[in-house]
Amino acid sequence: MTSILLTVPHGAFESKSSEGKQREERTSDLRAPSIARNLKDLFSKSASTTVLYINEEVPRSVMDMNRARSRESKWRKGLATFMLKHKLLIDIHSFPLLSFGSKSERRPRKQETEQPNIKEYPKVDQGWKIVLIDEYQALFHPWTRELLSRIKRRIPETIAVAGADNDIMDQMITLHPEGYSVLLEFCEDRVYLSDSELHLALTIISNFFVEINKNTVKV
Ligand SMILES: [Zn+2]
Repeated sequence: MTSILLTVPHGAFESKSSEGKQREERTSDLRAPSIARNLKDLFSKSASTTVLYINEEVPRSVMDMNRARSRESKWRKGLATFMLKHKLLIDIHSFPLLSFGSKSERRPRKQETEQPNIKEYPKVDQGWKIVLIDEYQALFHPWTRELLSRIKRRIPETIAVAGADNDIMDQMITLHPEGYSVLLEFCEDRVYLSDSELHLALTIISNFFVEINKNTVKV
């Protein structure tokens, strides 16, 4: 049984100034740190060991820890040592309502249009609740397809998209071509993705990884 590595690269507070005061505020991935902790608890209930590694020091606006240029940072160097010991990685993020897919026209960013695999996201009324991002070349890894279908069965507003520039996954794939990693994005709107629906998704995800660990996953 191998241990699962959970990462939250955008878990740091940003410095904001208002009314002449400086204050610390989380401005990105608002829900990601608590989701990662919930997932760790679910894994420990199923007797799987998990390492939770959150970047709480460097805000995304200072350095994006999910980009190749951050590899020399303290957090990424620490992550690299964890990566060597783990073959399964889940990279946890969260996004504001409508950031992924909506009825309003969403133009692909320049970087995405250069990626042949990335298509414009289909539109759902209120955007997606959960997004799986996959960096494997053959669009997608069979485990991503299986995980997607299991979540989608219970939460239809779930989609998988081909990633670009997710350097934590890229580094994992290079270190462990036989391993598996996925980036999970969760909607931050607690009305649209309720805590109970989120808990259901996290239960499906943790059961899936436990199956992978036991080599019993069927795809
Ligand atoms: Zn993020």
